[in-house]
Formats: sequence, structure tokens, C-alpha cells
Amino acid sequence: MFRESRKKLIWIIPVVSLLLCFLPGCKDIGNKEGFITIYIADDCEIGNEVIAEIYQDLKPLQKSKVPLRNVAIHIEDSKVGITSHGMDMYCAVEDIQSGKYLEPLVIKSIELKHDEIWKKYAIYGYLYKETESSEGLKEYLSDADNRDILSMFIGYFIPEYNTMEEIGVNVSIAKLYGKYIIDECGLDELLSCDASDYINEWLGSMGLTFSYEDEYKDILKQFNYTEDKGYNLVAQTDLEVSFYMAPPKEDGSNVYLSRQVLAETYVALNEILNYIKEYAPEYYQKSKANLIGVNVFFDRPVYSVTGGGYYPAEKEVRVSRYIDVVHELCHAILPNSNAHQWRNEGFAEYASKIVSKLSIYRDKVEKDYHTIEENAIFINEEYTEYRDEIIECIETGDYDIERYKRISAKVLIKMREDGAPVESVYDNYVAQYTDVPKEENVDLSYDEAMFFVEYLIKKYNLSKFLEYCCNENTFEEAFGVNFESAIQRWREEFAGDKW
Ligand SMILES: [Zn+2]
Repeated sequence: MFRESRKKLIWIIPVVSLLLCFLPGCKDIGNKEGFITIYIADDCEIGNEVIAEIYQDLKPLQKSKVPLRNVAIHIEDSKVGITSHGMDMYCAVEDIQSGKYLEPLVIKSIELKHDEIWKKYAIYGYLYKETESSEGLKEYLSDADNRDILSMFIGYFIPEYNTMEEIGVNVSIAKLYGKYIIDECGLDELLSCDASDYINEWLGSMGLTFSYEDEYKDILKQFNYTEDKGYNLVAQTDLEVSFYMAPPKEDGSNVYLSRQVLAETYVALNEILNYIKEYAPEYYQKSKANLIGVNVFFDRPVYSVTGGGYYPAEKEVRVSRYIDVVHELCHAILPNSNAHQWRNEGFAEYASKIVSKLSIYRDKVEKDYHTIEENAIFINEEYTEYRDEIIECIETGDYDIERYKRISAKVLIKMREDGAPVESVYDNYVAQYTDVPKEENVDLSYDEAMFFVEYLIKKYNLSKFLEYCCNENTFEEAFGVNFESAIQRWREEFAGDKW
């Protein structure tokens, strides 16, 4: 890190002038738009020719008239490798002389929106005449699984989220695609276009016959991307929920997935809010307001046997599995009561699994299928018929939520009939199935709570259910029937295939 006391010289390179200024000790240089400021540490033996070299290097950028912003280069001889913090870049004299500093400096200097980083690479490649071969790329893109890269999603360009190899491929694409746009339509068009505008034309120009459709394009336009609090990628929605995207973990979740997580979570939240708007309009504004200021973290510790948690005091959702994001956000929508875990979890499961029917939650349902299968095997051989049906679903990849509901409800009810104690499930979601592993117990009690909440909403209506959640009324005051009787009726109707 650069230390001010060791600062010897400050050089400022004005974009529009040939003059090199020498302003010792001057840090604030007023309106510096388009300037590069150079700080040189005491340990540096540096001659004017190094400064002149930087100036020469930056000429193509200055001439191009692309929007620029102030960047400071700190040159320190003790520095190993180029690093940067905000608008400051740190490197050694050697990095200047070898030219290594130039690409990161130019990328940092170009003033564009945070999510348009691909355009910066394109501009750099074009101005500095970097020749990229399209051969390896064509082979890479021949695999349909690799094509999401063509969305130019910002996360694909952040080194912390990708391997060096991935970054290399992403940057090559940006440079080749950008060069095509500039050659065909000019630099101004590159600056104003959307990533998808010319993608298929460009693929065609390389002799590739497939086309690319970015299914999340319109949804992800609703996000504003920044960096904040040590996170290279923070995505904020118009719902004022912020997603702090962490570097990928060993469990396989990665930034490629994060794009889908962002898009589908946004759609799911809107579906849930619209559902409330339609069936309980008096709770819509309040529900929406409850989401304002919620921050979602993918890398904060979660103290739970499940994959996530909502921490109301901090307004934080913490998840270790992406499939839990919407569930946890549902906890933020409704006031939570410690005395009624079944209600909290039941609504969160109902809203995230049943109201929002998104493909990403297919993974969650798939996991649930496996859970119920394991439980059915554990509990009793009597459940063979259900187990066979579940195994068939797993083998054929048919993870329909309605089918899942029907099967798991029957298994649950049979288990209850067999004497698994029921009372505490509704007070505390840690279930009481004593001879199955703990995590499976919890999953099942979540399901059970979900089915019961669904029953209440269908039998009474959403307004009544939300009224019960948001007020101090007892169950009986809210629904006109006592809790135990409601449970009994629900189980009878469920078991009897009445709905
Ligand atoms: Zn929960």
C-alpha cells in the first residue's frame, strides 16, 4: 500500500496537453477530468522517460475521445504485481517498462457503467491493436453450454469470480466482438449499444451458424450494478434489495450461475408481490416496503441446519445455497413470529415453491424428491408405492411440484398416522421424527408447514392468512376454528385426496 510520507513526486498528465506538469506535494488538482495522476514512492529511481512513456502509451486513448475518469497510478519499486483499490492502481517501474500496466490502467480510466466492462476491453483491444484469434473461441462456443458467456455479464470479467482461463476467454470475446461493432458501425455505436444488439451478426461473420438469445437480458436490465464494501459485484433491484455476490465456492456455485440466480430471484419476488397484490391488495404496499433495504449475502456464516437465514435486525438474508434465496426473502416480506415457526416457514415455502414456479427452484424440488425418497425408505416399507413413484420421478427427471406435493403429503400423513409426534412441529420447525436424520426431519416439517399454510390460504383466503400473520389474533379468532381441529381437518382432506 502506498504511504503518503514516502511520496516523492506527483506527476499529472493532462489529456489535452503535451505539457508534463511537475507539482510536488499537490494532491488536489481541481477539475481533473481525463487526467492520470502519477504518484512516485521514495524507493523508486525514476526518470522523466518513464513518465514520457506513460504519456505516449495513453495517447491513443486520449485521441479516441472515449469518456475518461481520474485514475491515480502509484509507482513503488517494492511492489510485486499490479493491484488496485478503487481509482488507485499500484505497480512497479518494471510493470511500466514491460507494458503490463497499460491494459488495467486503460480499463480503469474509461468511464462507463459498471456492467459495461466488456466495452472497455473492446476499446482497449481496438485502440491498442491487439490481435485476437477467433479459432479457439469458435471451438469453445461450439459447446452450447458455454454460450451464456455471450451475454457479456459483468461477473464474467471479475478475476475474483473466475479462473485466469475463463477471464482470458471472456476478454477475447469482448475484444473480438467489440472490434466487429467498431469496424462496422463506429466507436460511438459501441458506446451506446446493448451487448446483444450485434451478437448474431457477429457470430455469422465468423461463420458460426447458431444464434444466441439472452433469456435474462430484459430482467437483468432492471438491476443497477456497483461494487461496495469489498464486494466486486453488487446488484441492486428497483425493489431496493441488494445482492452482494461473493466469489465462487468449492461447492460448484459460481458466477455463471449467479446471473440466473439474480434474474430468477427478481422474477420470483415480483410474482410473489403480484400474488399478494391480487389476492390481498391491502397487504401489498406493506409487503413491498418490508423488502426495501434488504441485503442478500452469499458468503456470510449461516447458523442453521438449513441453507440460509433471515436476520431481521440487520435486514440481512444470508444463504449458502442459491436455492434458498427466495425462501429467505419471503421471511423479509412477512413479519416473523418466534412463537409460530410453522407459519413463518410454511409461508416462505409456499410462496417460494408454489407461487413462483421458476426453473431454478426445480433444483430445490429435485432435492426435496430425494429427501422424501430417503425418508420413505427410512420410515416404513409400507410406503413402497410412493417410493416407487418418487424413484420414477427422479429417474425420468420429472420434478413437477404438484406431483411432489401429492406424494410427499401422503408420505407425511402416513408417517404421522404411524405415530410420529405432531404437536411440536407446529411450534418449532425442528421435527420430531426420531428415526431419520436431522436435516431430513427439518425438510419434512417445512413441507408439512407449507401444505398446511396452503390449505389455510385455499380454505379461507390469502387476506385472512396475512391478517392472522400481521395481527395479534389467536388462531381461533382468525379462522373461527381451533388450531388442533384445523390440523385434523386438513389431514383428513389431504389424506382423502380432496384437493
Ligand atoms: Zn425459513
